Amino acid sequence: MASIRELHQQLIKKERTAVEIAQEALDHISQLEPKLKSFLTVTPEKALQQAREVDAKIAQGEEIGPLAGIPIAIKDNMCTEGIRTTCGSRILENFIPPYESTVTSKLADAGAVFVGKTNMDEFAMGSSTENSAYQLTRNPWDLERVPGGSSGGSAAAVAAGECVVALGSDTGGSIRQPASFCGVIGLKPTYGLVSRYGLVAYASSLDQIGPFGRSVEDTAILLSAIAGYDPKDSTSLNVPIPDYSKSLKPNLKARGQLRIGVIKETFGEGLDPTVEAAVTTAVELLQELGAEISVVSCPRFRYGLPTYYIIAPSEASANLARYDGVKYGFRSEDADNLLEMYGKTRARGFGTEVKRRIMVGTYALSAGYYDAYYLKAQKVRTLIKEDFDRAFAQVDVLVCPTAPTTAFKAGEKTEDPLSMYLGDLMTIPVNLAGLPGMSIPCGYDEKGLPIGLQLIGRVLQESRLLEVAYAYEQATQWNLRFPKLA
Ligand code: GLN
Repeated sequence: MASIRELHQQLIKKERTAVEIAQEALDHISQLEPKLKSFLTVTPEKALQQAREVDAKIAQGEEIGPLAGIPIAIKDNMCTEGIRTTCGSRILENFIPPYESTVTSKLADAGAVFVGKTNMDEFAMGSSTENSAYQLTRNPWDLERVPGGSSGGSAAAVAAGECVVALGSDTGGSIRQPASFCGVIGLKPTYGLVSRYGLVAYASSLDQIGPFGRSVEDTAILLSAIAGYDPKDSTSLNVPIPDYSKSLKPNLKARGQLRIGVIKETFGEGLDPTVEAAVTTAVELLQELGAEISVVSCPRFRYGLPTYYIIAPSEASANLARYDGVKYGFRSEDADNLLEMYGKTRARGFGTEVKRRIMVGTYALSAGYYDAYYLKAQKVRTLIKEDFDRAFAQVDVLVCPTAPTTAFKAGEKTEDPLSMYLGDLMTIPVNLAGLPGMSIPCGYDEKGLPIGLQLIGRVLQESRLLEVAYAYEQATQWNLRFPKLA
């Protein structure tokens, strides 16, 4: 599909209607979904109704915003009133939210056209979308491979052109890693920039909603639309929100001095040499574009993974206690008493990975182990944040690979949870510190699979990340390559 700017021009010049654009996306979805399976629910009626409303506004001569009439997909862990929201889990198979999440309500007000809800790892726990209780989403660049996860459905849908932009959520990398695997742009905002109201909670101190796009500009436009203070989310930041698309300039020199630090610890063992080469070349190009490059050290980065895998399951075990067969979703009816009903509901409603996390989290929080695990993890979390503080005293933006490899084959890691967890090595510290991070395409490996470059910024410096990403994109234009499938 075309970019937001192009579609907006077509709409206001009356070259095309919003209904025609929505229909193009829906047709594309019907054509690709049998192979790709990015969507859990497609919502043609909703999309066409929203598109008709945009057309009516245009017909009446009303001014429309940039997102009006733009087809968008939503990860299936954001509540959409009247539209099934499964979170990739059996336990929410028939859950139809009675309310709208803040992000989707903002997008609806902006006139965006919702084409559907995308597949994901159950409760956003995973890195390949293989933990979905429903289906396997394929990577549009190679159907034998995973799209990454947990927001794999959203990343695949954008890469394949089933929609223009999409929303994902990122607790430890779930926007950036699938963006990297699918060759699109994904941005995890500063913790608190985007409201979590109506996002099904996984690990509340880490979860953030963010945009996927095929271009930096599209990503920036979507971020501007969803960011901002929300009294319904107690961790929401009350700060002014810029128009992120306004500060994009093709040349880094145009914005004055920019210091970029390459994180030393992310190179070396376990890093695929092709990924390393692509990232190194990208850093050289950033230098040519005007950035000052240095190498910085974040020695505690490597404790991110064990720290995360205590904190995230602990928070998850508390958050997921609400799925008891009483309040929402699935209930096992064949129980003789309440306790048995809870047990059977949860045993049947949750998948293996979710149960594993609940058990790890419950253990880490239990009396006698709390100090040894959870409290310790919180302390290490502070040390990791200190590493970032020290690095950001020397540089403005940090760069490293988004993931140590390109997309792997479906089934390759499902038997070995630890090897799956290892793939999150480079994204997790960013969530632990609450910082903004984004993944942008920086090349392709010998099999033609996309490689991602991660940019990390200071708190609330999304604009700066987008500026760097934009300058890089203009110089490389990796985003002009499409998977054959699209
Ligand atoms: N892969 C990580 C996990 O399984 C991160 C997931 C996410 O960011 N939601 O927890």
